[in-house]
Amino acid sequence: MIETLEQRDLRAAVAALGKRYGREYFAGVVRDGKHTDELWAEAGELGYLGVNLPEEYGGGGGGIAELAIVLEELGAAGCPLLMMVVSPAICATVISRFGTESQKRDWLPRLAAGSAKMAFGITEPDAGSNSHRITTTARRDGDGWVLSGRKVFVSGVDIAEATLIVGRTEDARTGKLKPCLFIVPRDAAGFERRQIDMELAAPEKQFELVLDEVRLPAEALVGDEDAGLLQLFAGLNPERIMTAAFAIGMGRYALGQAVEYARTRTVWKEPIGAHQAIAHPLAQAHIDIELARLMTQKGAALYDMGDDAGAGEAANMAKYAAGEAAVKAVDQAVHTLGGNGLTREYGLAAMITAARVARIAPVSREMILNYVSHQSLGLPKSY
Ligand SMILES: Cc1cc2nc3c(=O)[nH]c(=O)nc-3n(C[C@H](O)[C@H](O)[C@H](O)COP(=O)(O)OP(=O)(O)OC[C@H]3O[C@@H](n4cnc5c(N)ncnc54)[C@H](O)[C@@H]3O)c2cc1C
Repeated sequence: MIETLEQRDLRAAVAALGKRYGREYFAGVVRDGKHTDELWAEAGELGYLGVNLPEEYGGGGGGIAELAIVLEELGAAGCPLLMMVVSPAICATVISRFGTESQKRDWLPRLAAGSAKMAFGITEPDAGSNSHRITTTARRDGDGWVLSGRKVFVSGVDIAEATLIVGRTEDARTGKLKPCLFIVPRDAAGFERRQIDMELAAPEKQFELVLDEVRLPAEALVGDEDAGLLQLFAGLNPERIMTAAFAIGMGRYALGQAVEYARTRTVWKEPIGAHQAIAHPLAQAHIDIELARLMTQKGAALYDMGDDAGAGEAANMAKYAAGEAAVKAVDQAVHTLGGNGLTREYGLAAMITAARVARIAPVSREMILNYVSHQSLGLPKSY
């Protein structure tokens, strides 16, 4: 067995919680324009949202492997919680590893309990996949900072108490720009958001942000302004591992629906699942999902061991494999249901766009192929 007994118990317990809510709950929340508050609160109370955080700050003392199990099992039950990728995985990890004592005391217990959420904003309209090009700039202002810039596609800003914004400081000595992270409260003066109209059936919304001379106290800076890139990367491996878990959960849910349908739907002599043209693609989807999970477990294991560099390659590969597996599983599931694949009742068609999120965000399929071409294979760069 690859997972420990505790991890398997966690899987079973979270799966039971997910089953109690189920797809009907999730679909209802989306339909009514609400949020998954009840499930989020219960998962927090049960210790699932902070399972990766240190015990002294209200967490479970586990790792990203455990947090990925939680997200995967909720997704497999039909309740993928996108904010888990952001709030406990990226933001809480960065604060827990690089925050000051007072930032840890202020945020970690609440992020672990689920009573507060934090969004994460790095993407910019003119930078996109090229995050080295971000222009959101932090200027020193007495003891504090003034932050100006724009962000796009930032998830859950409306339901997050604050957003962890990736900006850059201007280094007076070298003139170089360095990335650094700031906690920006939702109601900070000059912090404006506009909801983007997305073709996504999900409770979490995406926002375009304008930071117009947002004044922040010194303690809004997380970690050391000179170690920005390192700190940023510490949050990005969990982000990729968790996006993989998000995709795997979604793929498993879609595959489960398709298998159930193929087992019973009969239009000739045998159920349609007896036809290999239906069975084999589902078997392939299952294999792809299992392989993606294996790579996700590798990425999580390396990360939890403290091997940030080793985890980087595995986490990227896991995100790639899981994104592709989810897209294919959902596509095949829709097809397996014939006309019903496109009905609202079965709810699979809406997952076509949802699954594609894992192919483009937080880092696109092509950028991972670039990374593997350069970092793993040593091929030259074209850009
Ligand atoms: C639902 C959703 C939620 C999101 N949530 C967040 C969030 O919470 N916080 C946040 O900061 N961001 C978030 N994002 C943004 C996401 O991370 C970006 O969309 C993603 O990084 C791609 O950037 P882009 O959209 O600007 O695409 P672009 O960078 O414009 O890329 C467009 C296409 O060109 C390809 N491309 C670009 N450069 C290369 C290259 N060198 N070689 C080959 N191909 C290339 C890309 O792969 C892609 O297919 C979210 C996006 C979505 C869709």
